[in-house]
Amino acid sequence: MGRGPRYAQDEGSSKLTENSSKRTGTRLVGAGRRKDWTGPVVNPPIWRASTHLYENEAARQAAQGNNVDGQFYYGRRGAPTQWALSEALTQIEPHAFGTVLYPSGTAAIVQALMAVLRPGNVLLVTDNAYEPSRAIASGILKRFGIEPRFFDPLDIDAFADAFCDKTKAVLLESPGSLTMEVQDVPTLAAITRDKGAVSLLDNTWASPLGFPALERGCDISIMSLTKHVSGHSDVMMGSASAREERLYKRLRQTAQQMGNIVSPDDAALMLRGLRTMEVRLERETESALRIADWLAARDEVAHVLCPMHAGSPGHELWQRDFTGGCGLLSFVLRGRSEAQRVAFIDALDLFGIGYSWGGFESLVIPFDPTDIRTATPWPPQGWEVDDRLGIRLSIGLEDPQDLIEDLAQAFGAMESA
Ligand SMILES: *Cc1c(COP(=O)(O)O)cnc(C)c1O
Repeated sequence: MGRGPRYAQDEGSSKLTENSSKRTGTRLVGAGRRKDWTGPVVNPPIWRASTHLYENEAARQAAQGNNVDGQFYYGRRGAPTQWALSEALTQIEPHAFGTVLYPSGTAAIVQALMAVLRPGNVLLVTDNAYEPSRAIASGILKRFGIEPRFFDPLDIDAFADAFCDKTKAVLLESPGSLTMEVQDVPTLAAITRDKGAVSLLDNTWASPLGFPALERGCDISIMSLTKHVSGHSDVMMGSASAREERLYKRLRQTAQQMGNIVSPDDAALMLRGLRTMEVRLERETESALRIADWLAARDEVAHVLCPMHAGSPGHELWQRDFTGGCGLLSFVLRGRSEAQRVAFIDALDLFGIGYSWGGFESLVIPFDPTDIRTATPWPPQGWEVDDRLGIRLSIGLEDPQDLIEDLAQAFGAMESA
């Protein structure tokens, strides 16, 4: 549990927020619910505010120099609804000093990288990163004089060798987007620290419930709150939590200079989603494991990519480092054609075709990273070359037996395509 940033109003903290020694579900219920934010009601009210008013000129001057959550100043520094969410996320991320909110997960990634890098620096990016993260590295960051270098997510020696004096930050993601490689994050973060660079982890898949990133040695833990924290596919947001005060302040200053703010209505939706996150993740994990077992036994499936599933790549590291899972998994068809993959996806009834994941409803999306990767080949070495058409499933809260029956009938449609 972090110390958290200093607040202007320190007295009056709710007993409910003093729950650092409690277990996850209890902490999720109490997180961010100090009286300063909520008043006498259960949830913080939605403070829609651009202008904050001061008692007098002396109060305005005092506020200006006190740039911390809890200090009313102007809408761009937030108000109690946003402060409550930011504090809640700090409280559920062990060892976090503070958390900055962003209007999307992608905004969190680009702004966190811009906070720690400057022209002339080299950024190491894991080859299995979320595609927009790759685009940030090779696009806007490169235009501003930062050189991206992509590395094999699983090759620790090559990673250590990739550093030079100009390497100042490393972007990790585990499990990797779509392909689900589990990285040895504690080792990669320790190497990064030894080399004097900052490690940032895109921890959207696991969240701190499944992988306490800062406790495992990362400097900055990033989440797309759009996924598990929202849980309802109706709001977008991102966050970056830092272990050290120094890095938290840099994140905050960069975000403020970039004019970054999230709406209080969206923050309230995120707080609502946060309360049920543990039960949703537990249910999704259970269903995903059942579906992974079922997929692994199917002849149409060459590989199941679900780190929680024994027999999937990365399962040992997952067991060593993770404390929970979620409903996002992938699998690779055995030697089928693109037309067959399309027939399978179109035949699904309970899985919406759509991006994003972590919502209450199940989703499906095809993938084939052959042309995206630059440091590692797809399909990976040792696989049949025809086994490369991937399908990603986000398992929602439907009954898993219904989902399995839907997948079974879609395989039937695929075979007759
Ligand atoms: C969705 C996603 C993001 C980006 O989040 P948005 O809120 O959609 O911008 C970042 N990383 C991962 C791993 C994601 O799945």
